[in-house]
Amino acid sequence: MPRISPPSAAEVKQHPRAFSLLRQLTPSEDVDASLLTDYVRQYGAGDGGKETAPEMSFSEFASLFSKPASSRGASASDPATNCLGWAALEAGKPLEPFAFDRRPVGPHDIRIEIAFVGICHSDIHQARDEWGGALFPMVPGHEIAGIVTEVGSEVTAFAPGDRAGVGCMVNSCRACAFCAPPRCEEQFCAKCVFTYNSKHADGSLAQGGYSTHLVVRDCFALRLPSNLPLDETAPLLCAGITVYSPMKTFGLDKPGMKIGVVGLGGLGHMAVKLGKGLGLHVTVISTSPAKKEEAIKVLGADAFVVSKDEEEMKAAANSLDGIIDTVSAHHDIGALVGLLKVDGKLAIVGVPDKPLSLPAAAIIFKRASIGGSLIGSIQQTQEMLDLCGEKGITAMIERIPIEKVNEAYERMGKSDVRYRFVIDIQGSLIH
Ligand code: NAP
Ligand code: ZN
Repeated sequence: MPRISPPSAAEVKQHPRAFSLLRQLTPSEDVDASLLTDYVRQYGAGDGGKETAPEMSFSEFASLFSKPASSRGASASDPATNCLGWAALEAGKPLEPFAFDRRPVGPHDIRIEIAFVGICHSDIHQARDEWGGALFPMVPGHEIAGIVTEVGSEVTAFAPGDRAGVGCMVNSCRACAFCAPPRCEEQFCAKCVFTYNSKHADGSLAQGGYSTHLVVRDCFALRLPSNLPLDETAPLLCAGITVYSPMKTFGLDKPGMKIGVVGLGGLGHMAVKLGKGLGLHVTVISTSPAKKEEAIKVLGADAFVVSKDEEEMKAAANSLDGIIDTVSAHHDIGALVGLLKVDGKLAIVGVPDKPLSLPAAAIIFKRASIGGSLIGSIQQTQEMLDLCGEKGITAMIERIPIEKVNEAYERMGKSDVRYRFVIDIQGSLIH
């Protein structure tokens, strides 16, 4: 079993990617030999000629993973920038390499070397400015999972080597009625800084997780369960919490309750898995009949209704206590209200670019409640992550190198994803 001598703080600073890989390989000094060979093959220079010795200094270990920087062609001209990402330089432009600077680690900050980042449909809406007012250049990405490489002098909750995640928020005022206890719902703070397409208090642009590292205030970082693979955990940071939160706040979390999940994409498939984790009866309502078998056999859904099939919709009428609607495009709300029981609740989390129309009579005759839900608080996100750790819940993903991000956007536009794309940052984006 190869033994790697522990790195000094200066060595970690010099080789954050290698340190992150080391900590994913092992929390201790001993590394499993075959796992190490595997990692070198996946994340090393790819020359296959490097030998792994039984005793290695950290810098020898790091040299196994040295790769040429992929910053050539990056649109920012300053070669001294400390972070490399992929950005949309203008609305709707394909994403491309983009070098930029992140702030140094302050007393309350942690630095996370990003290993994986999920692709949320919100990334696409915003990179194409479908909601209006988007800020460019934009490095999207708010489903971030990685390893802490540095912590500020006042940080106690994280240490170098810990797994950490960041979702849709990176800061807020931390004092208003929304931020402070007992609410602790920073997502509604007027000064909430979202992970990208948002501005920090000093006016600089916040940039997201399609990038090599992130510096974030410690209280906006999440602890990731140690038993779950990092790549399959990343999507929990947005897709997971966005569907978990309405189940909790709309009271759709009691075992045995019947819920519907509309749209089986990134959010939808997490709603199925989390719903089952909470003991609910889950019906998928989808436009894609081809997803039926997998939804039931692999994701664990109890029933599957094709929304374009009138007979199937009729058979499911008046059967659901609640619905989580994750659809990213315009669709018929009336048809969904028809599926609710009297007093049923419809939680909208999908954000189509055009307003949805409300069928007043259908809502009235069901005394239905229709509401929206925005991600979830940091506290609730931690609760959801801990539940996922306990129950072994992760996302079902397709892992891609960063070069495939534009293709992934096109495929998501055709509902062609099972069920979340996750970018292998540590394997394809080298600073
Ligand atoms: P996604 O992976 O692309 O999944 C969306 C799913 O919606 C598709 O897989 C498809 O499922 C269904 N769909 C797409 N077009 C449709 C249409 N025209 N009619 C009916 N169904 C259609 O997207 P996602 O990442 O899960 O995100 C979903 C939405 O939630 C996006 O609008 C995103 O911006 C939003 N979002 C909101 C929050 C929040 O805080 N509220 C947070 C994150 C994301 P089927 O193939 O099964 O029909
Ligand atoms: Zn998202």
